[in-house]
Amino acid sequence: MERQRTRLLDSLDNASVDVAIIGGGINGAVTAAALSAAGVSTALVDRGDFSSFTSQESSNLVWGGFKYLQSYEFRLVRKLSMSRNRLTEAYPSQVEPIEFLATFDDNSPYPVWLAGMGAVAYWAIGNFATDRPRVLRPSTVEKIEPVIDTSRAKGGLIYSDAYLPDNDARFTFGFVKSALDRGSLTANYTELTRADFADGWWTLHLTDVLDGSARTLRARTIVNATGPWIDQLNTQLSVTTEHRIAHSKGIHLIVPRIGSGERVFAFFDEDERLYYVIPMGERSVIGTTDTRVDDPITTVTDQDREFVLRQINARLDLDAPLTTDDVIAERCGVRPLVVGASGDHEESDWLQLSRKHEIEIDRDRGVVSIFGGKLTDCLNVGEEVLDAVAELGIATNKLDDSWFGEPPAAELARFQARIRATDHIDTDNALTLWQRYGRRANFVLDRVIEEPALAEILWDEPRYLKAEIVEIGEHEMVACVEDFLRRRTSLSLTEYGDELDDRITEISELLGITTATH
Ligand SMILES: Cc1cc2nc3c(=O)[nH]c(=O)nc-3n(C[C@H](O)[C@H](O)[C@H](O)COP(=O)(O)OP(=O)(O)OC[C@H]3O[C@@H](n4cnc5c(N)ncnc54)[C@H](O)[C@@H]3O)c2cc1C
Repeated sequence: MERQRTRLLDSLDNASVDVAIIGGGINGAVTAAALSAAGVSTALVDRGDFSSFTSQESSNLVWGGFKYLQSYEFRLVRKLSMSRNRLTEAYPSQVEPIEFLATFDDNSPYPVWLAGMGAVAYWAIGNFATDRPRVLRPSTVEKIEPVIDTSRAKGGLIYSDAYLPDNDARFTFGFVKSALDRGSLTANYTELTRADFADGWWTLHLTDVLDGSARTLRARTIVNATGPWIDQLNTQLSVTTEHRIAHSKGIHLIVPRIGSGERVFAFFDEDERLYYVIPMGERSVIGTTDTRVDDPITTVTDQDREFVLRQINARLDLDAPLTTDDVIAERCGVRPLVVGASGDHEESDWLQLSRKHEIEIDRDRGVVSIFGGKLTDCLNVGEEVLDAVAELGIATNKLDDSWFGEPPAAELARFQARIRATDHIDTDNALTLWQRYGRRANFVLDRVIEEPALAEILWDEPRYLKAEIVEIGEHEMVACVEDFLRRRTSLSLTEYGDELDDRITEISELLGITTATH
């Protein structure tokens, strides 16, 4: 709600913190959560909504990166697999294990038996924490998922990873909320426009993007978590680094559900590159592409759409091929990939560029820069940045694993018992509410007990109660309806625009915002 945001912005003005984090994508959000849990005073700002740039455009996969074994990145795969395991264990309702079904045909760069051996190695690298992989005959692929065209298939492979069934932006917001609850000074739509360094302190000039008003904040250290914009901000801060960022554009198309919706499909495209069909409730997300771009601001082009639709239609047995009329929504973002300071790399190396992250410390100016990374890698990033600020002399408490994760199962059981004891909310809804709000699901229930009309269902599939919208409006820093539709929920990705348009006024009223857009 705008009132909450203004209050938070005002609390930033003239404040002094140990660490100011610029950028509220996954890297900034996880940094704020880890540092505030370690007793470090922090501020977190983003010039858009939290997670409104790269971190809302991912494939929603929490994975060790089986395909990175192709480029022999064993250390990276090990690190990502361990991170996946930690996330799956800590977020049992938000990070779900899921099967991948890969189909091998003429476009596959290697035979299915070799991929099968790779999958066993991948399973072992991940400490056997997922289900055992298995190689399938084409007839078994056909039987499990009849929508896959197996006429050219040479075999299939099932292995397991995890995904975010809700959405990447909401997952990211969970870290923002955790930082906020631990006292971090947090504001969206707040841009760092200038920063001056003197006597060991940074003076940050912040602009409220919504009304142009100015605030000033002092900080001993800056964490540059601006993702694709990292090099621009470092130039502004007069920081020189050993690494830079190269931008790789990736797009996804969202269409009505393909197949059972129980597993991710993997295929090789005509360039022998892997792409996926990923479940999102009653929808499927198809992607992605990997195109080198210079400008981080990108859009889906006709060529992108045509490419993705051509690939998928060639591998599915549909009554009619998918066309642009079937596309409900699109996602488009740039991966910030780490390269050397010169920024040079061979065009032929492009698809092999590592998905690793690097953290660099400028000791003279007190700046920590986070290059690259993945949603999957978020816990490692949070913990490594904590070490980096400690190296800069900021006092930090030791962290245990309680800085992240969902509340214990016993609390969920108590919440489920509360739901059962009231007549207001369908018991089937309990887990969804827990998945979305954690402990705060109790507040949603309290609202309904106080005002039973709020138990009314606003949207049926995915189900949203009116009480949830009020809760989001009051406690999730929503400044405009787009924040709600695209990031606190995924409604603008999964629902048809005209159906949403009919409800915008009602949604805005429940959120407590006066304008539908900004
Ligand atoms: C197509 C695609 C698919 C992907 N799929 C996966 C996947 O399945 N699994 C996975 O683990 N990873 C995936 N990734 C990678 C992952 O999404 C990114 O690595 C991650 O989101 C980057 O997060 P970030 O916080 O560094 O950047 P961002 O999310 O871009 O955040 C940076 C923020 O900084 C803000 N900012 C910039 N300048 C300023 C300023 N001056 N003042 C205030 N704020 C500022 C911006 O507004 C922005 O919100 C994918 C990426 C893409 C593009």
